[in-house]
Amino acid sequence: MANPFAMPQPLEIRRVNPLELSVLWADDHRSTYSSDYLRKVCPCESCHEERRQSETGLRVISQEVPTRVEMSQISGVGRYAIQIQFSDGHNTGIYSFNLLRKLCPCRECREAWEQKE
Ligand SMILES: [Zn+2]
Ligand SMILES: [Zn+2]
Repeated sequence: MANPFAMPQPLEIRRVNPLELSVLWADDHRSTYSSDYLRKVCPCESCHEERRQSETGLRVISQEVPTRVEMSQISGVGRYAIQIQFSDGHNTGIYSFNLLRKLCPCRECREAWEQKE
């Protein structure tokens, strides 16, 4: 059986509203992401470093983004990723389709990933 995670291809990427992004994948799976969630898992250098530091240090400060962030704009990057402009001014994160598919927060996907680990 083909691995649905191997070559994720979105058929449709839609910013439903400033707080919600919806992606329909070629394998007919639909992922819905909240802006808070996407902001928190931002894959850019500085966010990555921030998370790394909070993992090694004392975890007193919550990683939650304090205010509600919105997605002001979403643009395509080549044929493999999207870039999100957040309302807090952050826009350096490039979310590859591969990453987005992995990040799908639905229960089905979470369970699939847990089984792999
Ligand atoms: Zn970032
Ligand atoms: Zn899913």
